[in-house]
Amino acid sequence: MSSSPDTGAIPSAPIGAQVDEDPSKLVRSTAHGDWENPTPLYCVWEITLACDLGCRHCGSRAGDARPGELTTEQCLDVVHQLADFGCREVTLIGGEAYLRDDWHIIATEITRSGMSVGMTTGARNLDDRRLGQAVDAGLRTISISIDGLEKTHDAQRGSKGSWKAAVDAARRVAKTPIRLATNTQINRLSMPELPALADLLADIGSKAWQIQLTVPMGRAADRPELLLQPFELLELFPLLVWIKQKKLAPNGIRLFPGNNIGYFGPYEALLRYGGEKGAHWASCAAGKWSIGLEADGKIKGCPSLPSDQYTGGYIQEMKIIDAVRNTEPINFMKQRTRDDLWGACKTCYYGDVCLAGCTWTSHVFLGRPGNNPYCIHRQMEYEKQGLRERFRKLGPAPGLPFDHGLYEVFTEPIPDLAEGDAPTISGIDLTDIMNLAKDAPSVWERDDIIERLKTA
Ligand code: SF4
Ligand code: SF4
Repeated sequence: MSSSPDTGAIPSAPIGAQVDEDPSKLVRSTAHGDWENPTPLYCVWEITLACDLGCRHCGSRAGDARPGELTTEQCLDVVHQLADFGCREVTLIGGEAYLRDDWHIIATEITRSGMSVGMTTGARNLDDRRLGQAVDAGLRTISISIDGLEKTHDAQRGSKGSWKAAVDAARRVAKTPIRLATNTQINRLSMPELPALADLLADIGSKAWQIQLTVPMGRAADRPELLLQPFELLELFPLLVWIKQKKLAPNGIRLFPGNNIGYFGPYEALLRYGGEKGAHWASCAAGKWSIGLEADGKIKGCPSLPSDQYTGGYIQEMKIIDAVRNTEPINFMKQRTRDDLWGACKTCYYGDVCLAGCTWTSHVFLGRPGNNPYCIHRQMEYEKQGLRERFRKLGPAPGLPFDHGLYEVFTEPIPDLAEGDAPTISGIDLTDIMNLAKDAPSVWERDDIIERLKTA
């Protein structure tokens, strides 16, 4: 279901942000004592790479199961290891987690071991039998991926009928004791449909909405026309605030900006979860507060990070906590300082706290961490200078799960607006966006969708 990007999703909400809330309600939130000795509180666990969708932006290029995926017995041992070192919440992903016959056995054991368990899913085949298994396993949350209105979603997910299946599954989840959440990839196709999508989420009963920017990893790395140019964050952030205030809050939907929706400036308090209580971005959580596990046993500090460079070890060979404590590919964030930053992040006012935001985003754009173009503060600073930042693709990705291509970022003068130009978002007239109905097929013409999804 291409949940891999969604997990960076994935890492979502307030991991690592300092939030003064009851941790029993938000179990992955850090409480004050946790900061003395950071240990992963949250695990995103890919239990299979098998998938029933073919998402055009899938970071893990999911489809077939990985060779040598963990056995049931090994998975249950993983559950016990997680519980032993104090992990509080586990999100099962794939591929599509429910395609493993034993997925509910693993989920049940997570609950039984005292942790909270959820699932992120494309829900193409989340039928009543599997939903019943989820209820019996004690799932707290099911987060369903919806990347726009029907035609837009189906095109990105590579499967006609996938939007209808996701919306139908969402309505059925909403009738169970499981909390319905939704998640959305933000890119040049989905951005103009976000207001209409927010209306749809209210209609289906979503309680939380996790959003994240599509970044050039896996299949998305092959599709630069799909990705937002960094300067387009200047359109996105005011739109998100408007949606949150006008459409989400009145319907009781919590907005969880993913860890690559960054950072600081006037939008931090308005958008960051807990921002109204003073929570702020406190740098990448990889290996400190979160870990990611892959179905063949790889242990990483964050599920989204490129597997080649960020695997600390294998479950078959070492204890998870030893990999977390003792391997540099996982605990790199405990050592990162401003000296490790480069480009515009190096001299940024927020550099000491931010540490260049999301490691994953920086790495998959520029081949190494420490310089993050998807940052609203940075784009606002450029705008003051009459500049805007864009990227250009330099080289292809090799075609492996969690791989990336190579891009460069550069600045250019902001072009003058022609007199009488109507305001647009992602090139679509703002009036059309605001008038878009939640049951419209798409704001896009077919050719525009094909253009945005083309490979290059
Ligand atoms: S420019 Fe870099 S260091 Fe500064 S806030 Fe943005 S991502 Fe963080
Ligand atoms: S790399 Fe860091 S900030 Fe980015 S998604 Fe992973 S844990 Fe979150």
